[in-house]
Amino acid sequence: MTNFFWDLYQNRWIAEVSARTRDAGSAARSARDKANDVERRIDALILTNMAMWSFLSERLGVTEEQLLDRMTEIDLSDGKLDGKARGTSGVRTCSDCGKPLSKRHPKCFYCGAADAGAKPFGRAT
Ligand SMILES: [Zn+2]
Repeated sequence: MTNFFWDLYQNRWIAEVSARTRDAGSAARSARDKANDVERRIDALILTNMAMWSFLSERLGVTEEQLLDRMTEIDLSDGKLDGKARGTSGVRTCSDCGKPLSKRHPKCFYCGAADAGAKPFGRAT
């Protein structure tokens, strides 16, 4: 009788571990797919920036020094020289409902109001 319960316990444990293994595999595939998508998007952004830079430098004569100065100026616009276009603080709120706005969406998630402060590249300064 003891063996019966031991076997039952073992079988339940094996089933539990199998389910966890399947879930972990699924989560790993999902994370890999998201990482691949981010990598593809970054490659597209790099290519776009290289094309835009070639136009600016060739047609307008903008120098690399001017580019670096502008990058520093934009980096410092949030008060921190951190290699980022904007800081993580300063969450903006919806002018209609007062709830936090997402930087990635042009409308409020909660009430649907348009983000009056939205600007190109998601910056609202
Ligand atoms: Zn709102």
